[in-house]
Amino acid sequence: MGEIDTVVVNGLELANELREDMAQQIRTIVEEGGRAPCLVVVLVGDDPASRSYIKGKQRACSRIGMDSREHLLPGDTSQSNLLSLIKDLNADEGVDGILVQLPLPDAIDPDVIAETIDPSKDVDALHPITAGRLLRGNADLISCTPLGVMAVLERCGVAIEGAHAVVIGRSNIVGKPVSILLQQANATVTLCHSRTRDLAAVCRQADILVPATGRPRMIKGDWIKPGAAVMDVGVSEVDGKLVGDVDFEAAKGVAKFITPSRRGIGPMTITMLLRNTLMAYQMRSGS
Ligand code: NDP
Repeated sequence: MGEIDTVVVNGLELANELREDMAQQIRTIVEEGGRAPCLVVVLVGDDPASRSYIKGKQRACSRIGMDSREHLLPGDTSQSNLLSLIKDLNADEGVDGILVQLPLPDAIDPDVIAETIDPSKDVDALHPITAGRLLRGNADLISCTPLGVMAVLERCGVAIEGAHAVVIGRSNIVGKPVSILLQQANATVTLCHSRTRDLAAVCRQADILVPATGRPRMIKGDWIKPGAAVMDVGVSEVDGKLVGDVDFEAAKGVAKFITPSRRGIGPMTITMLLRNTLMAYQMRSGS
């Protein structure tokens, strides 16, 4: 069998299209006298990677005309101080979305924080009520990276119904929600993790493969079914370079679609954060 002409998905291009559409919606809201939607990002500590993520999120907000505010708290902030900030933001009528950047310092329990965010402002989709709604199939706010994966599959025209989708990773933020979305789109889903036996053999059955482990280049070319859609969520830094969970070069010529570690799923994740904030605004304003 000859090599497949692999399409390297340009996630940034798709992200920009979706953002332009949201920018237009926000322009209309403001022209009609409404206020712009507002995202609040909370960072505890001064982790450089987290700082750069929140800067990227704020830049993305401002480019589409969305307001954003940041709360930069010192690394020794107590859990009770963070909780009282979140309660203030919950009560603030001018705030539509609240995102607490992870990871948090050890002294703060991320589950307690997630449970305190008002579910109607839970744009990172971490509250148990938000997660429960996703499970029941009636969620409005959905984890951003899984939504990004689904949007890329849709844009590529990948047939999800009846396909065998293999997800690797079972985190609350990526693996579990993306497996639920795929199942709701009528894929047959296998959810793998670090204890899965013969992962390579399971991967070879995948029409849609979604690795989300953070293990650089773990997925070899011969683990991929020819013609598969490979949505590589994993990102790691190796020798100063971003690499995915998939051996990208080896996957070319085998996969039909593959997302690169730069300009792949990453820009779609931020786009879906904007989407969730706009949706939270619309739900709150009844528009
Ligand atoms: P977690 O560390 O929370 O979860 C990793 C998962 O991978 C776990 O379920 C773990 O299994 C599984 N895993 C680890 N090693 C193996 C292995 N050898 N074989 C099979 N499964 C394995 O990570 P996240 O879900 O938060 O993130 C996953 C990756 O996605 C990271 O690289 C992260 O940087 C990236 N990411 C990218 C985003 C983007 O926008 N592009 C957004 C969010 C995350 P077990 O449960 O058994 O331990």
